Amino acid sequence: MLTKIKEVIDRGDRFLITSHIDPDGDAIGSAFSMYWALDSLKKHPLVYLRDKVPSRYEFLPRPTHLTNAFPHESFDAIFVLDCGNLFRVGEGYEQLKDMGYLINIDHHKTNETFGLINMIDPDASCTAELLYFLYEHLHVPMSLDMALNIYTGILTDTGSFRFGNANSSAFFISGKMLQAGVKPAYVSQMVYNNHPKERFKLLGLVLSGLEAFDNDKIVMTHVTNDMFEEAGASKEDTDGFVEYIKEIRGVEAALLLRQVPGGYKVSMRSRGTMDVSHICALFGGGGHRNAAGCTIEGNLGQVENRLKEALKVQ
Ligand code: 5GP
Ligand code: MN
Repeated sequence: MLTKIKEVIDRGDRFLITSHIDPDGDAIGSAFSMYWALDSLKKHPLVYLRDKVPSRYEFLPRPTHLTNAFPHESFDAIFVLDCGNLFRVGEGYEQLKDMGYLINIDHHKTNETFGLINMIDPDASCTAELLYFLYEHLHVPMSLDMALNIYTGILTDTGSFRFGNANSSAFFISGKMLQAGVKPAYVSQMVYNNHPKERFKLLGLVLSGLEAFDNDKIVMTHVTNDMFEEAGASKEDTDGFVEYIKEIRGVEAALLLRQVPGGYKVSMRSRGTMDVSHICALFGGGGHRNAAGCTIEGNLGQVENRLKEALKVQ
């Protein structure tokens, strides 16, 4: 697999690197690290992300060639990173297959293997982990620009090394990133201690809507457009809210419903063996056993009812 990808990179020059909408630390860390890896190989990469980089990730060494406008061009290859399906890239995703040789690199077990090459490992902690092994195979020297991005991908996707996916590779690679100059206290400071106060006003509203079912095994809350307005907050301020309510004693699954046009984007997190990717798949979404998402059409009551039905709670 690594050899096949190396051949494509050796042969080509212009590469597109993309990842999912609402990019998280792994999407950004993966895309940016790959940009710097290809740049150091004297290639010409471009990173396309539909959405802007959330402010907490603005400290990451960002590509010189980064765009939020869909590139209607041809490339020698297109790397789709951290996307369980192509749809997650956002509008225009159907065109990607005609724009270049599609390479899919991901760690979602629900991955739909839409690439001509599919490097999928559900046991990897994050996509940045898989890319680390690719860069080793390509003999790319580990720069600080790459290391900061890779470390941030691992740190954020493992919930600061707290989730079940915090495997030995995650720690091993993180150690290597520290050797390359990453300062963990600095990264934590930038990613976690850098919030606008509006986030906490919104958190207050979100927590007051908390509902618990089945002896607190399932907890659910929501954020509406009105709540965003009242708090003066934006959708990136909700990052981490669902993990927060998962800290309640006895919780097996935590859900956050965020209003989007026509319905609600649902973020689900679980502890232990409960598989929320199955629940999300019922609604056309997906993800991992302990972290998954989907979008459901309808008003708040309708969406809540459909979820309660799927989760078999009243
Ligand atoms: P989040 O709740 O943070 O948006 O997403 C949690 C996990 O579920 C992530 O790994 C993400 O890639 C996946 N996920 C979120 N929303 C969707 C979706 O609509 N479809 C699919 N296939 N996966 C999703
Ligand atoms: Mn990921």
